[in-house]
Amino acid sequence: MSKILDIEKIREDFPILKRTIEGKPLIYLDSAATSQTPRCVVEAIEKMYFETKANVHRGVHTLSQEATDKVEAAREHVRRYINASSIEEVIFTRGTTEAINLAASSLGDSFCNGDEIILSVMEHHANIIPWQLLQRRRRINLKVIPMNDRGELLLDEYEKLFSDNTRMVAIAHVSNVLGTVNPVKEMVAIAHKHGVPVLVDGAQAAPHMKIDVRDIDADFYAFSSHKMYGPTGVGVLYGKKKLLEVLPPYQGGGEMIKHVSFEKTTFADLPFKFEAGTPDYVDIAAFDTALSYIESIDIREIEAHEQYLCDMATRLLNEIPGMRIFGNAPHKSGVVSFLVGDIHHYDMGLLLDKLGIAVRTGHHCAQPLMTACGVEGMVRASFALYNTEEEVQHFVEAVARVAKMF
Ligand SMILES: *Cc1c(COP(=O)(O)O)cnc(C)c1O
Repeated sequence: MSKILDIEKIREDFPILKRTIEGKPLIYLDSAATSQTPRCVVEAIEKMYFETKANVHRGVHTLSQEATDKVEAAREHVRRYINASSIEEVIFTRGTTEAINLAASSLGDSFCNGDEIILSVMEHHANIIPWQLLQRRRRINLKVIPMNDRGELLLDEYEKLFSDNTRMVAIAHVSNVLGTVNPVKEMVAIAHKHGVPVLVDGAQAAPHMKIDVRDIDADFYAFSSHKMYGPTGVGVLYGKKKLLEVLPPYQGGGEMIKHVSFEKTTFADLPFKFEAGTPDYVDIAAFDTALSYIESIDIREIEAHEQYLCDMATRLLNEIPGMRIFGNAPHKSGVVSFLVGDIHHYDMGLLLDKLGIAVRTGHHCAQPLMTACGVEGMVRASFALYNTEEEVQHFVEAVARVAKMF
């Protein structure tokens, strides 16, 4: 029995978990796509709208000051949460996708024809397409780190991909499909040996484990609030100060300038240089509350609980005839992706929904990975701090039931 967390108490914080689907209690196993939001975060949003709604950084009036203070308090909280050196290194974005687009676009300015970028076969489209878009500006080449049958990246092959033209490495901390926890610290060290900076896509790591950007020594680190019990519309790009300082802005507009004239404009200091326009300050303030919520429970206990559920699901699913689980790395986090016999992932997802169970089906925004696995799609169950052993039990029984129907 998992006695790591007081789940009943935690579930009280998430009103949506009381919902029924098709008359059955909702079993939400799609937190890797977006996690549910505790009451305190929704209340923080409401409080912001009711008490502190005013634009940030521009006004002298009290409300504007308060709103500014809340955004900057959230920035300091994020800094502490990921152990960044200074708040200048914490840029608020709309999400991981925008964070990676920002980094790729600004870095791409200095790339030349023939430059190379190393990605891995298990990247989310958000960490592929921004680099491909650069190919409209420069003839750069993408090189891909392969993986083994268990879903682990091949570090020997990775080393071989470096050349004098390598300008960047961009890799997922945790695969959103396979759950593999990549050895990013080791991979960063290898890249740095070659003088190459690394962007880590932490969208699937930040909700599940302690993140220390200085320990990893990542040059850039991206993640999304909505996968960490926070509101939608907020993400973070961490970047090392000395790199951010020399990068050109991503977007232009208000907030990101020092002085504007039609002849010459100077840009604001970090981090504001990269935050054009009115930020989603309401949700940024609420993200602060989400981080406090995670801290009130302790990320290490959340990790242990999710690990327990993940191992349990894997073990029980494997007893179903025809079961194929994708991703069997010894170090996994949060998700189990699978197919049963010839059953189409979409049919499995639809029938599980009839039983109240929410899973994700399809290519999971990782089509190159699907190709590498020789499939078009998979079913993915993902776990969060509010899931229970009973839910995992019901889920596996439901999969077995569906499998028998075909
Ligand atoms: C969800 C996800 C993204 C994209 O995050 P958004 O919040 O949609 O911008 C990128 N990478 C990975 C690994 C993800 O799981």
